[in-house]
Amino acid sequence: TETAMMPPAWNASLVGASRSADRLHTPALVLDLECFEVNVARMVTIARSGQCRLRPHVKGPKSTAVAKALVTAGAEGIACATVFEAETMAGAGLDDLLVTTPLVQQSSIERLVGLAGWRKVVLVVDHPTAAEALSRESVAAGLVIPVLVDVDVGQRRTGVGTEADLVALAMRVNDLPGLRFGGIQAYYGHLQGVADHARRDTLAREQLQRLSAMVAELRRAGLPPEIVTGGGTGTATSDASSCIFTELQPGSFPFIDAAYEKEDLAGDGTAGFRPALFVASTVINAAQPDRVTIDAGMKAIPTDGPAPRVVRSALRYEIAGDEFGFLYPAEGSETLPRLGDRVLIVPPHCDTALNLHRWLHVVRDGTVVDIWEIEARGEW
Ligand code: PLP
Ligand code: MN
Repeated sequence: TETAMMPPAWNASLVGASRSADRLHTPALVLDLECFEVNVARMVTIARSGQCRLRPHVKGPKSTAVAKALVTAGAEGIACATVFEAETMAGAGLDDLLVTTPLVQQSSIERLVGLAGWRKVVLVVDHPTAAEALSRESVAAGLVIPVLVDVDVGQRRTGVGTEADLVALAMRVNDLPGLRFGGIQAYYGHLQGVADHARRDTLAREQLQRLSAMVAELRRAGLPPEIVTGGGTGTATSDASSCIFTELQPGSFPFIDAAYEKEDLAGDGTAGFRPALFVASTVINAAQPDRVTIDAGMKAIPTDGPAPRVVRSALRYEIAGDEFGFLYPAEGSETLPRLGDRVLIVPPHCDTALNLHRWLHVVRDGTVVDIWEIEARGEW
């Protein structure tokens, strides 16, 4: 129902001119719109510099409002990790949806083919069994669905591992009715967190060389890939300058979490990319001499990744339970915040942080300008 989609009345009442974000009911997930726009523009520029289309991954935001903002800023198409993300995007009118996970269960296949009858959908496979199941459903629905072969570029998570397997599966997809061989996907997630830009670039280029050998092999087999998609926020400059990818699918770049803010993303000291996603929290106990307690615990801030960072302070955050966190002074010298004071925290990992919250409070210059629903959270 429509009322179920309404943000909590207290926070909704803050939307609009001169309503300060300092009055948000906490814990609250906050998006700094100015930083978000700078980050998105930066990635659009990087993708264009390599003549790549930008197909942002929405596995993190899981929000149609974020997806629409990305398209407005120059994104062409959207990448999704789950069936429900793709269904949610389609329901809001977004089109050209790539589902980047090779899915095998019958329910996924039926739902994806259902979606393909409704929007332009691109799917990936890494095994003939899944391709055959997709083909059966696609034929029954009277469709021809573009399918990419997922290739393993070092992460050993999904994807075919050899050129021979790639060519064999591409040919199988090409032969199966109801499917069209559309190209390949290559995502090296294990390289995204390599801290040093030069090292990350070297490791990415090793994989990109393998990838270009795979593309050459496909050409020789008479199956030139129309789409070569992959890449992430950490490797974006390497991905764009490779001339191999026709499109890039980074996801974290609009937000920049505590892991990514430590990385030199563009080899220039990360100039341009900055954190845009914060958990706003309130001090609810200041009775101890050495620490205070805040209202953001592991249900508001994820625990994967580096330590959460407290904005404009050296305070150290520690999880203190489901609903609680501790803040400690860094060297015992810094004065502690007082009861009722508010802090902003950069989460360790944007994707898992967004999945913990239902509403994204959009703030510009300290004013709440909108509240976006994270519609596809907690469902697959
Ligand atoms: N593509 C795939 C297949 C992914 O799994 C991910 C993230 O895990 C991304 C793209 C986005 O990468 P990043 O968050 O580094 O931008
Ligand atoms: Mn992630």
